[in-house]
Amino acid sequence: MSVLVFVESAEGKIKKTSLEAVAYGAKMSDEVVVVAFGNVASDELESTGKYGANKVLHISDDSYNDGVIQAYATAIAQAMDQSGADALVMANSSLGTPVAARVAIKKGAGLVTNVSDLPDTSNGFEVKKSIYTGKAFATVKVDKAIKVLAIKKNAVELVEGSGSAAVEAFSPNAQDGDFATKITATKKAEGDVLLPEAEIVVSGGRGLKGPENWGMIEDLAKTLGAATGCSKPVSDMDWRPHHEHVGQTGVKVAPNLYIAVGISGAIQHLAGVNSSKNIVVINKDPEAPFFKAADYGIVGDAFEVLPKLTEAIKALK
Ligand SMILES: Cc1cc2nc3c(=O)[nH]c(=O)nc-3n(C[C@H](O)[C@H](O)[C@H](O)COP(=O)(O)OP(=O)(O)OC[C@H]3O[C@@H](n4cnc5c(N)ncnc54)[C@H](O)[C@@H]3O)c2cc1C
Repeated sequence: MSVLVFVESAEGKIKKTSLEAVAYGAKMSDEVVVVAFGNVASDELESTGKYGANKVLHISDDSYNDGVIQAYATAIAQAMDQSGADALVMANSSLGTPVAARVAIKKGAGLVTNVSDLPDTSNGFEVKKSIYTGKAFATVKVDKAIKVLAIKKNAVELVEGSGSAAVEAFSPNAQDGDFATKITATKKAEGDVLLPEAEIVVSGGRGLKGPENWGMIEDLAKTLGAATGCSKPVSDMDWRPHHEHVGQTGVKVAPNLYIAVGISGAIQHLAGVNSSKNIVVINKDPEAPFFKAADYGIVGDAFEVLPKLTEAIKALK
């Protein structure tokens, strides 16, 4: 099997979720080619070799900079032809999944999104995927010769090796309609650490009583190098911006550590956080449902616990 991995980048850096996709591809095959778009320096592209890539096809044409899904799908399908790949792997992201679906149609491939584990090839090709917003798993058998897999964050461990991938320029032939969608403006989420990519998230709920108390959340987040999140009512009331709203109808996060402060743990909130590796809950109500999903819990008043916790972490550092 030969694998093509589509990697995404932001501000010239390849995203960690995409490096995980490279590492996943390298567990499937020794022949791993990466396809990357945009203004990414050669040494950054070469570094995908540390996770198992042999070669990078780099599309540097500015017309692809806006991330138009149709154009990406055409280019990636052509990169599959060029590299002879019979599997395509990418991060299960807001860009990755629609691109995956379109490439799968173009190539007549079997598509699996939300993939949570490596494939089992002992009896055909089976992959495990997360379903029902992370509450259950399904095992999917793919019979098609070509496979397209969108990988959940943390599906594989990222271990840095010493390889270096060879970088080659690649110029796809855009088709009619590829650029029919024009992106006229983009607004970037603010904050030092972006929520969907964050390794640590500190999130606040209605228990914080009002936006004037968010300094405590921001202090702890800054101390830990974390992104800040919130529950839906908090963003509905404009205490925090909408892009921080975590849950079924908001951002789905999968950090190593999710700290929930003054959030009850409603099922719709849990749907956005249950792929987190470790969950710490701070709530004054010992019966709060979030404690059932927590790895560690602190029963206490956030206004007393948070400043002490932040000071203790600062002292440790
Ligand atoms: C279709 C639908 C979709 C939804 N999608 C989402 C979603 O994506 N994300 C989401 O978050 N919600 C979503 N909701 C809303 C969800 O059902 C809950 O209403 C919401 O998550 C509750 O927010 P909360 O925990 O901040 O507030 P509350 O339920 O009011 O809980 C506040 C918590 O703070 C604790 N608390 C109070 N004071 C303190 C203190 N001083 N110290 C410590 N703890 C304290 C309380 O014990 C309580 O547990 C959705 C609802 C529906 C119907």
